[in-house]
Amino acid sequence: MYYTKKTIVFHNGNFVKATEAKTDLFSQTLHYGSGVFDGIRAYETVAGTQAFKIREHYERLIKSSARIHIKVPYTAEELVNITYRLLEDNKLDNAYIRPLVYLGPNMRLTKTNEVNIFISAWKWPRYQLNDQLDVMLSSFQRPNPKASYVDAKITGNYINSILATQEAKLKGFDEALLLDSGGFIAQSPGDNFFMEKDGVLFTPPEGHILPGITRKTIKQLAKELDFEVVERLFTVQELEAADGAFFTGTATEVAGIKSFNHQAFKKKWEDTMGYQLFTKYKQIVTHGEYDSYSII
Ligand code: PMP
Repeated sequence: MYYTKKTIVFHNGNFVKATEAKTDLFSQTLHYGSGVFDGIRAYETVAGTQAFKIREHYERLIKSSARIHIKVPYTAEELVNITYRLLEDNKLDNAYIRPLVYLGPNMRLTKTNEVNIFISAWKWPRYQLNDQLDVMLSSFQRPNPKASYVDAKITGNYINSILATQEAKLKGFDEALLLDSGGFIAQSPGDNFFMEKDGVLFTPPEGHILPGITRKTIKQLAKELDFEVVERLFTVQELEAADGAFFTGTATEVAGIKSFNHQAFKKKWEDTMGYQLFTKYKQIVTHGEYDSYSII
C-alpha cells in the first residue's frame, strides 16, 4: 500500500528504492518513541503539483526535533527541494508525504548522536472517508503537557492516539474525541476539533492540543468568510448542545461529524459553517487560490 518495488524514498542523503532501504533494529526511536514525524499533502493544482504549506510543515519538524534535542541535518528549504524531487521521481501529483526523523542505536535513555531522516510519499485518500462521522468520547485523555511536549509531533506521543483510535473502532465508532487532563474537550487522536453553536465556531486553545497547520488555515478561512472563531475551553455538556462539529488535519482535511456518543448534531453537515469551510479549503488547496496561503 505504501510502496511498490519501484518506489523511491529519501534516506539519509540518498534517493533509494524503498525495498532496499535498511535501518538499525537497535534504533532508540524504534524501542522508546524518541523520533519526530510530520505529514504533508501535495495536490495537483492549476500551477502543477504543489505541497500545501510544505515549508511550515518542515519548520515544525525541525522545531519538534529540537524540543527533544535532535538536530535535523537539513534546512527546511533543503527538505522542500528533496520532497519535490521525490514526488517527481515517483511520478506523484496527489500524494501524502511522510518525513520521519529517527535516531541510531542506543538502548539507554540518554542522548543519541546518530540522526537519520527518511521521507516517503504515496497516494492516500482522505483519512476520514466521509463527513458523517460517528464519534465517541474516549476513555483516554490527551497526554499531560507536563509529561511530554504534546504540541510537537513526537512519535512516542502517538501511543495515546493509537489506543484511543482502537477503542473507538472496537466499539463501532469512526473516531474518538479526547478530553484534556482538566476534563475539557481537546481533539481527536490525529485531528483538531471545532464545534458550531449559534453561528459561532469554538476550538480549544493551545496547551493540550497539537496546534495543527490545517486548524490555523481554517481559522484564516473563517475570517475571510466573516465567521467568528472563539478559542476557549469547553465541556462535554456544551458540545452536546452544539449545532455541528468537524475535524481538521492534513490527512483528514476537513471532515464533518454526524453524531457524538450516538446523539446526532442538530444541523445537517451541508448546512453547517464547517461545510462552507470544507468547500473553501478544497478550493484553495486544489485550485491555486493562494493569495494569502503560501503553498510553499
Ligand atoms: N493533532 C494530531 C495529534 C496530529 O497528529 C495532527 C496531524 N495529523 C493534527 C492534530 C493536525 O495537524 P495538521 O493540521 O498540521 O496536519
